[in-house]
Order: sequence, then structure tokens, then C-alpha cells
Amino acid sequence: MTLPKHFRSSRLRIGVAFSSLALVLFAAVGVLSGEQARDQAQRDAGAAIEQLADRLAFGLDAGLAERFREIQNLANLENLFETRLEPERWRAMVDRLQSSFPYYSWIGVARPDGTVVAGTQGLLEGRDVSKRPWFAAGLQRAFTGDVHEAMLLASLLGPQPNGEPLRLVDFAAPLFRDGRVEGVIGAHLTLAWVQERRAEALKATDPANRVEISIHGPAGTIMGPAAPAVEVLRRLEVGPAIVEWSDGKAYLSATARAGDAQGKRVFDWTIVARQPVDTALAPAERLRSRIWALGLLATLLFGIVGWWLAGRLTAPLRAVAQQAARISAQRGGGAAPADDDEVEQLAASLGTLLTHLREREHELVGLNASLEARVAQRTGSLNQANEDLRSFSHSVSHDLKGPIGSIGLVLRHLVEQQGERLDAGTRRLLGEVVRECDRLRRLTDELLSLALVEQSEMTMEPVSMQALVDEVVAELRRPGAAGAAEAERAELVVHPLPEVHGDAVLLRQVWLNLIANALKFSAKAAQPRVELQCRATEAGHEFSVADNGAGFDMSQAGRLFGTFQRLHRASDFPGTGVGLSIVKRVVHRHGGSVWAEGRPGEGARFAFVLPRRPASS
Ligand code: ADP
Repeated sequence: MTLPKHFRSSRLRIGVAFSSLALVLFAAVGVLSGEQARDQAQRDAGAAIEQLADRLAFGLDAGLAERFREIQNLANLENLFETRLEPERWRAMVDRLQSSFPYYSWIGVARPDGTVVAGTQGLLEGRDVSKRPWFAAGLQRAFTGDVHEAMLLASLLGPQPNGEPLRLVDFAAPLFRDGRVEGVIGAHLTLAWVQERRAEALKATDPANRVEISIHGPAGTIMGPAAPAVEVLRRLEVGPAIVEWSDGKAYLSATARAGDAQGKRVFDWTIVARQPVDTALAPAERLRSRIWALGLLATLLFGIVGWWLAGRLTAPLRAVAQQAARISAQRGGGAAPADDDEVEQLAASLGTLLTHLREREHELVGLNASLEARVAQRTGSLNQANEDLRSFSHSVSHDLKGPIGSIGLVLRHLVEQQGERLDAGTRRLLGEVVRECDRLRRLTDELLSLALVEQSEMTMEPVSMQALVDEVVAELRRPGAAGAAEAERAELVVHPLPEVHGDAVLLRQVWLNLIANALKFSAKAAQPRVELQCRATEAGHEFSVADNGAGFDMSQAGRLFGTFQRLHRASDFPGTGVGLSIVKRVVHRHGGSVWAEGRPGEGARFAFVLPRRPASS
């Protein structure tokens, strides 16, 4: 089953889960406490009505005992009278008793033969009561007679105020005089007295509780609602219970036994107090409704709290999902499908993002492969170009340098052998060509060196600069070498030089060019002096070659290291303008730097720094 879209929201689901949890919890609490409250209410109400029945039973028993005693006391009075059965005295006595306790409907005294001699208000006097059960029993002993309907008295007394038939309980006792029975005193107590007691008992209860009291005797219901079945009454003897009555309804009921007088049971009366179940358990019902109302309120509150919490919990998820969707959209994949469930939305967005990332990765792998292919192609072309350059250098050195050298040699030989036969102009011209040939050869050499410096593989190793300088100086001073005379004449001061890490062949080029330049440009000084030294700096070893020669204009210093750049005229100082560009390239390939300082006529100082651990380029 698929839920409607808005029910799929995680937020809503968490909120509903919270509410449901609260509902289940409160329902459990409600049911349990409701049951307990119901039991308690039943116990309380049962105890209350049982107490009510007990109190009424006690009152009735006390009243009966009192009446019983009254009649017996009255019977004992006969002994005190002077003459036998004095009707006036007895009438006055019973009238007084009736007026003090109006529930006596009749009190009278009869002779042993059954003739009434005195009665309240003169009633029944002269009548024969010998057939009445109370009289027959009263002749023998003190007697009580259970409820019965009185026909004769009813006709004499007129209708009852409540319209009910006149029902009586009888009391009788023999009148003794000198140990002999002189007569019987009989009294009829109306049930109005019992009704009065019952009404008093009920007055103490709340009418809203609808408590009723019924009294039942062996002959049936004496008053109140009709008696329930006998087995039901028997059940109630154990204690209050909810039982079904003859009207088919359930009542909380409790019983008490009444009818005791003088320590023995004279009537077998059962008093039953009952209360409709709904009013008896009303407090429990009220409590239950209150618990349910609270439970529902708490459920609502939990729902709101759950909703709010879920909002807070899912906010980061939503943010991540939106971010992922935005990234996907930016990458041209379109937004992730809109979904109300934050988790599903996040999963969908991340899924889309992942797909895009995979596509991109795929593209990148492809691109990388094509790039690698292109790099390989370019590297191939470069290698080819390098190879071409190498063969070009080779051809320059052999194909160009060789012929130029040969031309120079031939011409020099010609001038030396045939010089006298040539005119002065031709000789000067040939001399000029020979010099140009030398210059061209040198230029070729230096260009080859530059090409070598640019292309050669570097072999990094520990190089003793001291040894390298000694070697270069020895070469420059070698007899027959160009500039050997100048080198001999100049004072060369070499301070101790350290060992560095570099390419010995290339570094040799640096020293060769710098020392040769220093010797060349100081040759015209009165006492040429060249000084080599090294000092440690933060950047590395700083080597310098200083001379006291021609110097140069510092404003032109920027041009010095460019190829074919020269600051002096060739007629003053011959040269090609390639040497310093070789120096610069070698120093740079060692990761170092090079610069120059000088003043015209005051000499120059060329310095370069090599890092302590150079990166080979
Ligand atoms: P070359 O020495 O063959 O002319 P270089 O490249 O070695 O070429 O030098 C370029 C120029 O730098 C030189 O022509 C010169 O003007 C200047 N130079 C080089 N060394 C010195 C130096 N020691 N004193 C003065 N000028 C120098």
C-alpha cells in the first residue's frame, strides 16, 4: 500500500510516531488507572452503602429492643396496682405511652379470656381478641409478631396518611399478679416507624447518589424495591457487590440483618441498600474521562513536540539534499525528483549527484587518456626536435666549424708563406679575414657550448669548486691558449672555495667564462688583479669573481646576461656576447641566481649563488 505523498514526509512520520507512542502510553496508563479507580470507587461506594444498611439495622434493632422493654415494663406494672386490671389506670397508661411514642397504633390490655378491658383511646374495649395470635402467645410469654396487615384496626383508625395499608408488628406480654396471669398487654407498632428510620438513614445520603433501601422479611418485601433473587441476596452476605435486581438492572448492593431484640432474633429482616452502578462508579468514570482528556492533550503535545523535533532533525538532511540537488542541477543533470520525505529526497539527490560524478569521472578518465596520448605525442615531437637540434649542433660543429678553421689555417699559411709577394693592402685584408675566421670559430664554439648547456642531461654530484677553479686557471694559462699572456700577467687571488652539489661539466663553464672575462676586461689595467671567493649566505654559497678592469655602466647591467649582448666595443675587448648567457643558464639550472656590479674604469664583480641542495632542472 502506498501512502499519500504528504504522509511520506519523515518529519510527519516522526511526529505521528511520537503521538502514537504517547497515545499508547497514555492509553495503557488510562486503562490501568481506570480499572484501579473503578475498583476503588466500587469498594468505597460499597463500604458506604453497607455502612448505611448497618446503621439502619442497628437503629431498628435498638428501637425494637426499646419497644420490647417498654411493653415488658408496662406488663410488670400490674403487680403495683391495688386492684386487678383497673381499666381507667390502664387506659391512662397506654394513652400516655402512645402519646410519647406515636408509632404505636394501638396498645391495650385484655383479660385472660380475650376481652379487651383497656385500649388506647378506648379502642377495641369490650372486644374479644382471644383469636389473635399475639394474645394467644402473649398469655404464655413475651411475644413479638412479624409484619402483618391489620384489617380491624385499619377500619377503626381510618386511612393511613401515606395511603398505604396499615401494617403492624405486634408486641405482647403476660400480666402477672402474685405469679398468676391476670391478662395480656398487647401493642401494635406501625411500619411508619420503620419507614421513618429508613427515611432518616437516607437523608444522610446525597440524593444524586440515588441510594435506595429496601427491607425484606421471610414473607417478602416489607418496604422499598422488590427483593432480588434469594441467591443474589445470599451472595451479598459476603460483602457489597454489583448484582442484578428483579428489574433487570445492575446495582451496587449491600445488606445487613435486622430484627434483634433482647439478644435474640425476633424478626428475620434483611436490609438491602443499593445504588445504580453508574452513580456508584461515577467518581471513577470522572477520573477516567479526566485521564483520557489529559492523555489526548499529551498526545497532541507530543505530536507537536515530535513535529518540531523532527523538523530540527531533518533540517540538515534537507539542506544536504538541496545542496546535492543544486550541484546536480549545476552539472546539468536537472534537479533531483521532488519528494516530501527528506531522507528519500536526500537519497535521490545524492543518487543523482553520484551518477553525475560517475559520468564526470568517466569523462575525466577519457580526457586523461587522450591527454596522455597527446603528451606522449608531444614528447615524441620534442624528442624528435631535440634529436634534430643535436644533429644540427653536430653538423654546426663539424660542417661549419671545420671549414671555417680550415679557411683560417689556409689563409694564415698563405700570409706567412707568400706574404712578401703580396701588396700591403691585400696582406692587411687577408689578416682581417684570418681574424674573422678565428672569431667565427670561437663563436661557433660558444654557441655549441650554449646548446650543450641548454640540452645536456645534468649529472648531480659533489663538486669541489676549488679543484674546478684550479683546472680552469691552468687551462687559461696554458701556453698557446688565447689570452694566456694576460692570464700570466694578472694577479689571481683565489680564496678557499667549498664543495657543492651540482654538474661539474656545466659549473666548469661558469668559472671559465667569468674568470676569462675578468682577465680580459682587466688586461689594460696597470696591475690587473682578479679575486675569487665564496661566502655562506642564507640562500646558499655565494661565489664571486671581482676584477679591477674596465668595469661597466650599472644602468646597462640588465642587458649583460642576454645572448649577444656586449657593453664594450670589439675593438677594445674582442668577444661574442655569449659567455654570460651560458653562465646565467647554468646557474639557473642549478636553482641559483646570478648578478653583476661595476663602475666604468673601476672594475666589476660578478656573483652567483648556488643553493645548498639544488633542485636539478
Ligand atoms: P664577451 O665577453 O664575449 O663580449 P660575454 O657574454 O662574456 O661576452 O660578456 C658580455 C659583455 O659583458 C661583455 O661584452 C662586456 O661588455 C661585459 N663584461 C663581461 N665581463 C666583464 C667584466 N669583467 N668587466 C667589465 N665588463 C664585462
